[in-house]
Amino acid sequence: MPGFELFGEKEKQSVNEVLDTGVLMRYGFDGPRKGHWKAKELEAALCARMQVAHAQVVSSGTAALTVALASAGVGAGDEVILPTFTFVASFESVLALGAVPVLVDVDDTLTLKPSAVEKAITPKTKVIMPVHMCGSMADLKPLKALCEKHNLILLEDACQAIGGSYEGKPLGSYGDLGCFSFDYVKTITCGEGGALITNNAEYHRNADHYSDHGHDHVGNNRGAESHPFLGYNYRISELNAAVGCAQIQRLDEFLEIQEKHYRVLYDALKGIEGIGFRRIPSGGVQNYSFLNFFLPTEDLAKKAHTALGDGGVDACFYWYDNNWHYYRKWEHLTNLTSLGKLPDEVKNNLPDYSKSDFSESDHWIGRTISCLIKLSWTEAEVKKRANDMAQILKNILK
Ligand SMILES: *Cc1c(COP(=O)(O)O)cnc(C)c1O
Repeated sequence: MPGFELFGEKEKQSVNEVLDTGVLMRYGFDGPRKGHWKAKELEAALCARMQVAHAQVVSSGTAALTVALASAGVGAGDEVILPTFTFVASFESVLALGAVPVLVDVDDTLTLKPSAVEKAITPKTKVIMPVHMCGSMADLKPLKALCEKHNLILLEDACQAIGGSYEGKPLGSYGDLGCFSFDYVKTITCGEGGALITNNAEYHRNADHYSDHGHDHVGNNRGAESHPFLGYNYRISELNAAVGCAQIQRLDEFLEIQEKHYRVLYDALKGIEGIGFRRIPSGGVQNYSFLNFFLPTEDLAKKAHTALGDGGVDACFYWYDNNWHYYRKWEHLTNLTSLGKLPDEVKNNLPDYSKSDFSESDHWIGRTISCLIKLSWTEAEVKKRANDMAQILKNILK
């Protein structure tokens, strides 16, 4: 998956253009920057590739989620529905605004189960946030229908699925808002960075202001800009954006490599009795950043994961026991352990997750193994890997 694997001359050239001017800030300094506007250039490239009207590039994927929520007016006490399987950043962004993360079950798509979402909707619900984990998407159509029925915002956390699509639309562009991460291990990287995309001009204007202290960016004099509302600093630097400008030009090249490697591995595993695969919703095309498969039981999944590691097949994940990605290890959320005092809206309204029944999530995640697809593998390496994986899994399942 990671863009850093194929990091090279284009990235260096783009960064050097910024270094040569010495202007590392995305706003102002119009003369000295000699026509280089890397953050703006990356925004334009994202709009073109994702077929949307607006993009706001910010300092991280977490920042993008926070700015996206703020841009839609989400605040204290509002409820945001998200899956039990995600990266901690998804609920951090919700808590940052004093809103309440409401976790619900995932199904065989490994992300939000629409019927579980429907049950979790209350008068306080404001957002449904599917997280397209490990390269593939939620059943977006029924989720959109729920949003329309209940007047909710659909926010796609597409941080791990850039380049995938659903019903012909790039992931992130199907909902009201979509977010990407360009951190160091994502499909394309800025070192650190992120972006939100939308077709809603008001959300975009809010995001543009909010991510830069509420400044309205009107006129040529930074000091004279007014601030229509309170904001924060979620700006990206020109250096990071410069890397992104080079990387986004290579996105389709990266996706092609991922798909090619994916198919070799998938073909080696698909005939093995007992191995199942994550469901890709109809109308969906994944970005092939991971191969995700199920073992028949939790016990066999644990054994298979250990055997793959011992057999030298690296970069395979068993999320069920993972600290960052699955609700079972999120004691800091469950216990609301924080440095400062959390708002009463969060303290009083966070569901008691120690009493929640997430057995359906456990049923799927407890049997899932996800293997990262690397861009840097040679054909011979992929073949060997496919053979090794098939041998190891057949052994476990015999
Ligand atoms: C990486 C990631 C984020 C956060 O992105 P950062 O750029 O690391 O802040 C959010 N959600 C998911 C699903 C991610 O994988």
